[in-house]
Amino acid sequence: MSITHTKHSSLSLQWRLTLMAAAVTALACLCLTILLGFSANKKMNEIGDFLVQIDNAELPEDAVIEKIEVIPDYENQLQTKKQSFRFESFAAMLGIILASSVLTYFITGHTLRHLKKLTACMEQTQAQNLSAPVELESEKLPAELARLYHTFADMLLRLEHSFSTQKQFSANVAHELRTPLAVMQAKVEVFQKNAAHNPDEFEPVLDSLAQQIERLSHIVNELLELTTLETAALTDSICLPPLMEEIMCDLQSLASDRGVTLVLDDSCTYDDTVSIPVIMGNETLIYRAIFNLAENAIKYNRPDGTVTMSLNKTASGVSICITDTGIGIPKDDWETIFDAFYRVDKSRSRTLGGAGIGLAMVRTIANLHGGKAYVKNSSSEGSCIVFEL
Ligand code: ATP
Ligand code: MG
Repeated sequence: MSITHTKHSSLSLQWRLTLMAAAVTALACLCLTILLGFSANKKMNEIGDFLVQIDNAELPEDAVIEKIEVIPDYENQLQTKKQSFRFESFAAMLGIILASSVLTYFITGHTLRHLKKLTACMEQTQAQNLSAPVELESEKLPAELARLYHTFADMLLRLEHSFSTQKQFSANVAHELRTPLAVMQAKVEVFQKNAAHNPDEFEPVLDSLAQQIERLSHIVNELLELTTLETAALTDSICLPPLMEEIMCDLQSLASDRGVTLVLDDSCTYDDTVSIPVIMGNETLIYRAIFNLAENAIKYNRPDGTVTMSLNKTASGVSICITDTGIGIPKDDWETIFDAFYRVDKSRSRTLGGAGIGLAMVRTIANLHGGKAYVKNSSSEGSCIVFEL
């Protein structure tokens, strides 16, 4: 990939700083020279007037002070002195400007060498070596550049993390899609080996293909949803108790199929006298998140188990707890189950039709709303997962 650099001014920062310093020095020197010249001119005129006064003064014959002999031709001499003063001060001014500009050039060059090093360091950083950026002795850098370097290093770390997450994600997607495709391919190959088929053989093959296609479209749909989450608008005012009731209704048939009882805690019921928790966000996404949690609680439950949903106010918002009497989650997996495609028991989840994206979506939705999702507790007696907003 090539990057097109925008056309920029050819004057380097070192030259710009030098020219700016030279301009400021020139202005200061010019003002000083004019002031000095003006003042010197005035003083010289005063001395000249004083001499003329003494020369013209009529002193008594017996005066102790002898008449001063006035400098012959002092008017001309005064003019010559003034001119040479002006010339010398102008020459001194030019000399100072020149010397200070040369000095500024070298001093800025010396200071900017850190910037040059930093630029070289950035140029050497490629997508492949993000985790090992070229080391700079940041303690030797001026404060502003040290900060820039640390910001750059932090940004690289974040990029590196994001790249590796994406890489892992793509690998997981490929792996997930490969399984149903491989099953379909195997089925079709076996079917093709026999030249003649009787009608009874079609049905199981078609059933299997339909099952795998359904699985593939489930994965693709969930992936699509996961990738479009970030752009969702969070502008709905959501009343949680009726939303939770709706989710319970929607999951009733799944729960009945598995012999699981759904319970809506008293905290989720409301009447006109009680203040109803209302939050701002995206209703479709919040519905999706609570639905996923409740669906898991049913899927990973025991027959005759229970799923209880409760709603509590917290200091900063609300928290929804989904408690089940299911198989539990090993403590080591409490965090990783929120990663995309992670399943504690892959084969069990697959038979239940799960792709392992549900909880990743829950966490993304929680983060998007400034909240969090986590396992509060879990044992062989069941689990409690919290969705905080
Ligand atoms: P999907 O939700 O994408 O259809 P899934 O249910 O397998 O598939 P997640 O919802 O992300 O994926 O859950 C990840 C894994 O966490 C599950 O496979 C399961 O092993 C474990 N898990 C989630 N919720 C529970 C629960 N309430 N009890 C026990 N295990 C759970
Ligand atoms: Mg799930």
